Amino acid sequence: MQELTHYIGGAHVKGTSGRFSDVYNPATGEVQAKCPLASPEELAHAVEVAAKAQPAWAAVNPQRRARVMMKFVDLLNRDMDKLAEALSREHGKTMPDAAGDVQRGLEVVEYCIGAPQLLKGEFTDSAGPGIDMYSMRQALGVTAGITPFNFPAMIPMWMFAPAIACGNAFILKPSERDPSVPLMLAELMEEAGLPKGILQVVNGDKEAVDAIIDHPVIQSIGFVGSTPIAEYIYGRGCSNGKRVQCFGGAKNHMIIMPDADMDQAADALIGAGYGAAGERCMAISVAVPVGDETADRLVEKLVPRIEALKVGPYTGGKDVDYGPVVTAAAKENILRLIQTGIDQGADLVVDGRNFNLQGYEDGFFVGPHLFDRVTRDMDIYQKEIFGPVLSVVRAQSYEEALGLAMDHEYGNGTAIFTRDGDAARDFANRINVGMIGINVPIPVPLAYHTFGGWKKSAFGDLNQHGPDAFKFYTRTKTITSRWPSGIKDGAAFNFKAMD
Ligand code: NAD
Repeated sequence: MQELTHYIGGAHVKGTSGRFSDVYNPATGEVQAKCPLASPEELAHAVEVAAKAQPAWAAVNPQRRARVMMKFVDLLNRDMDKLAEALSREHGKTMPDAAGDVQRGLEVVEYCIGAPQLLKGEFTDSAGPGIDMYSMRQALGVTAGITPFNFPAMIPMWMFAPAIACGNAFILKPSERDPSVPLMLAELMEEAGLPKGILQVVNGDKEAVDAIIDHPVIQSIGFVGSTPIAEYIYGRGCSNGKRVQCFGGAKNHMIIMPDADMDQAADALIGAGYGAAGERCMAISVAVPVGDETADRLVEKLVPRIEALKVGPYTGGKDVDYGPVVTAAAKENILRLIQTGIDQGADLVVDGRNFNLQGYEDGFFVGPHLFDRVTRDMDIYQKEIFGPVLSVVRAQSYEEALGLAMDHEYGNGTAIFTRDGDAARDFANRINVGMIGINVPIPVPLAYHTFGGWKKSAFGDLNQHGPDAFKFYTRTKTITSRWPSGIKDGAAFNFKAMD
């Protein structure tokens, strides 16, 4: 049995807490590795190493820091297949999807190559007699991030790439369910020229997370995961005086107007609803056709597409559409919620509960499900299922459809499918959700825009990546300077205009 490590001070370090968690191959159900769960002392050691290394890294000029990012991009491309394979083995997603996970992180690294430009301050010449005023962005110091299982490459890179490009040290606490790729990324960053101690990986669970939140040297915390944990970390982190951004769960609605291209909408729902077994925070889990006729046409088009889906292991080749879910516990939770849907009166149009894959009977596979006539009060509508389950909620008007998405507690992403520019524009303007797709089902912004939801999907003011990340990982300092110029204005006791 492989025993995974932490990555501290530029070396793989064995866990010393004596606590481990199991890392599964979700396709076979076998435990393939043990992940060490750090104690507060192990976390404190990593912080000490980071705090020693960070000032010298902050003093490296931004262009040289950017060159490390450039080299890192090359190494990610060189090792793409290796990374994708390791990712699929622990997560279960297909290899092309795993390569996409690495690729979307890589694009954030590419954006961070622009650090010299992005970190430029502002300067006002002659703000007053002989007075210049300028502002600069300085690194925070030691920063930390806590990431979920579902994007073990992309989400760590969302955080550590900008943090490090800004001159910080970064401690990553990845998901204990798929920790191998984060460890590989830390090795690659050092191969790219990053000094030891600037990017460290401390594996663990709640104990390590609490140690991060409470450690006085850590200046900021980035979190992505489920909403209850996001709220907890945000509250406790803020009360400890840290800068905190926490991203939570989702229930993304796609509205299908009567004039939509129904084939396009159905295809979009298949990819967005069932891709990665529905384990994406931007997955569409609720389809809202407007009018019963639209709903009937949509369901008619969805059913054969869903029945044709190929569910299999990541080793199954190009034909596999999606793989297993991450753990047996995740599978049980999904099946339990499906049962509540049946009990509460939703119409289970496609039933994947008896899905069985020969040779992979112990894998955590869940067949695809489609519920029709789901209503607001049902658990399958209110809760995030995070599995291959799509719910159709029939709305009788556009206003009713809009209201559904507006009233839901989550506000990560949403989409509208229509040929009507007015409706699309109205939707984009009025909806209280962070990321909107118009005839685009998973509107994940590219690296040079920012990513973030609203309502219970995000806590904190700044989004992930794009310009916001460079604000989150720096502090602004504003300097007013005057050099002797023969002007004598005596002591001043009041605010006054400089001119
Ligand atoms: P999770 O909340 O279970 O775990 C996320 C991280 O928190 C992990 O590193 C885990 O070790 C840690 N953690 C777990 N329990 C904890 C506790 N009690 N105290 C402190 N830390 C704890 O989430 P997950 O299952 O890994 O990921 C799936 C969730 O993440 C879904 O809800 C999904 O919507 C969400 N997600 C959101 C976004 C977004 O951008 N909004 C992106 C990806 C995933």
